Amino acid sequence: MSVALSVVVPCFNEERALPRLFARLRQVLPAAAGTFEVIFVDDGSTDRTLPLLRAFFSADQRFRYVALSRNFGKESAMLAGLGRACGDAVAIVDADLQHPPELLTEMMRLLREGHDQVIARRRTRAGDPRVRAFLAHLFYRLINRMVDVEIADGLGDFRLLDRKAVDALLSMGEYNRFSKGLFAWIGFDTVTVGYDNVPRAGGTSKWTVRKLLDYGIDGVVSFNNRPLRLAIYAGALSTLVAFGYAAWVLVSALVQGNPVPGYVTTICGVFVFGGLQLLILGVIGEYLGRIYFETKRRPHFLIREASESAPATLPLPR
Ligand code: UDP
Ligand code: MG
Repeated sequence: MSVALSVVVPCFNEERALPRLFARLRQVLPAAAGTFEVIFVDDGSTDRTLPLLRAFFSADQRFRYVALSRNFGKESAMLAGLGRACGDAVAIVDADLQHPPELLTEMMRLLREGHDQVIARRRTRAGDPRVRAFLAHLFYRLINRMVDVEIADGLGDFRLLDRKAVDALLSMGEYNRFSKGLFAWIGFDTVTVGYDNVPRAGGTSKWTVRKLLDYGIDGVVSFNNRPLRLAIYAGALSTLVAFGYAAWVLVSALVQGNPVPGYVTTICGVFVFGGLQLLILGVIGEYLGRIYFETKRRPHFLIREASESAPATLPLPR
């Protein structure tokens, strides 16, 4: 039942782009890979995405699908698809046509040359809103300072992985999945190919500024404990300063007989250290929350329906 290439496509309310994607994949994949399958993952869409996926499957059984019970987020949707892919190589492609499927031909060629991960790198951010491009830039500056694995701008989830890399990804069972980091963490022989940014085909991006910020914190916190280290350093530094200041106040009170210094010092101290303590508590809480979620060991997603469980009149996928 093994195929040369599985293409995993996470879809969340993508009814506008899907018909075009279906047509393009059908055109490109036979030449790119020979035998292939596509696994659409419906991530709890509320539009006509799921009926469309059912229709694709009954038109062409190489286009399988799995529908999650609600919106679990792209990370979980990708995981659901990766777990079901039976290809020797697996590609992850966005549904909104921002990842041109035509590139898969070149990516397959590179994989055959012996690379384990082929990453498509977006050369420009043309077509992205200005604020977003700026925030993304900031995000990568920050994250590369904080994280042990190198994460580059423009490297998204558009990738082609061989079996080795897929199995490595699947072996990481953590609940908080930050795949940009996971992809980098597994290593292997990696090569990139460039492509030009394409604006979304219909629909809107699900990223809000707030979500991007959350994503940034996720990225930093899920890859090491450096923020905790930072908290220790900040604590040590402010303790040192406090001791120095206390000594100075004491000496000046004893030697010069100065009256107790005033209101400003006190109030500033209260605010500065109050803020610092809350911040550090927040950092600790962030890790604690992660431990809480990890220990629950809940599944990453639940499945509502899949092409394999579609009505029995349909033949099973190849
Ligand atoms: N997506 C998903 N679940 C979500 C959000 C997004 O499966 O909760 C899918 C979406 O359908 C698309 C891909 O993930 O195929 C990328 O999403 P989007 O285009 O919104 O992100 P961007 O390209 O703007 O980074
Ligand atoms: Mg997109």
